[in-house]
Amino acid sequence: MLLERARVQEEAQVEILESLEVFPSTLPTRRESAYAAWVSISVGCNNTCTFCIVPALRGKEKDRRTGDILAEVQALVAEGVVEVTLLGQNVNAYGQDIGDRQAFSKLLRACGGIDGLERVRFTSPHPKDFTDDVIAAMAETPNVMHQLHMPLQSGSDAVLRAMKRSYRQERYLGIIEKVRAAMPDAAISTDIIVGFPGETDEDFEQTMHVVREARFAQAFTFQYSKRPGTPAAEMEGQIPKAVVQERYLRLTALQEEISWEENKKQVGRTVEVLVAEGEGRKDQHTDRLSGRAPDSRLVHFTRPEQPVRPGDMVTVELTYAAPHHLLAEGPLGVRRTRAGDAWELRQAQGAAKAAGVMLGLPKVGVPAPLAVSDAPACR
Ligand code: SF4
Repeated sequence: MLLERARVQEEAQVEILESLEVFPSTLPTRRESAYAAWVSISVGCNNTCTFCIVPALRGKEKDRRTGDILAEVQALVAEGVVEVTLLGQNVNAYGQDIGDRQAFSKLLRACGGIDGLERVRFTSPHPKDFTDDVIAAMAETPNVMHQLHMPLQSGSDAVLRAMKRSYRQERYLGIIEKVRAAMPDAAISTDIIVGFPGETDEDFEQTMHVVREARFAQAFTFQYSKRPGTPAAEMEGQIPKAVVQERYLRLTALQEEISWEENKKQVGRTVEVLVAEGEGRKDQHTDRLSGRAPDSRLVHFTRPEQPVRPGDMVTVELTYAAPHHLLAEGPLGVRRTRAGDAWELRQAQGAAKAAGVMLGLPKVGVPAPLAVSDAPACR
């Protein structure tokens, strides 16, 4: 999960184990931004993937009570958050504590009933536990985004067996087929490990086959490396570095081609983009702003004349595709949101706080005016 957060936020992540072993109602919410938040629904994992250290570190899965999750989401929305990502090592297993196999789809549908919550995402699902009711909930709940990040790890049944991942290629592709049938606009992404111990050329070709069939919008590819304390680190058949590297380059080249082709299909579409902070590294030089489309594709668009804040929504027509982002001209429309207000308030509070760190030295001059939202109101 930390890797996933590091990937999304493009920076190192730390987490205090103790704070995640139970879910006290007072647990402070992790807030990366004023407009989006992550909400943990479970910790731990009952699987035993041989490359993974999570079962040893986190232990068995513990699910958080649905009422507590929804209360946290509601509290976040009340503070201005419009996008929530539900987090668990294996979100599809959510509910097994209470013997309810459909608990996760019910949770998604319940999030659909929260006023003001515009975007719901989740990560990560496990293909083994993926059930049709989740696909139906995604398709039928308007604020659940048509985006799925579902780790493949390998396309080879033999490697999946060695990884102790109990689905097979056919099941994985079957889920994708059902998701696409229910949501033709769904963007599907994945994680793949190249060079797992014992992976043959034929095994690797099976991974390439799944990548061609699945047509992922994006794939996060990793070269296998030993992780101390995991069963795979002790396995025979470790693959020479040069072989891993050669396969990795072939896989990333194929995925790059597919990502680009899939992005080109988006050109001409009109989408609503949630304006983000810090998503576009070149925004300052190009005078663009950036954000995410509903399917989580990264969109850079020309800065409009009217002010737009992170957390606001803009409607844009996509005009150009690159493998990892899309471009659009100035927005067709700007929707100011409570999330934008919350971002603005945070900025004002941050500025006030920074101004307060003055080593106690008195300031000379007229005090800065309070931000409108901070100013005491007459009642
Ligand atoms: S499903 Fe496998 S990879 Fe994911 S956390 Fe559990 S053991 Fe690790």
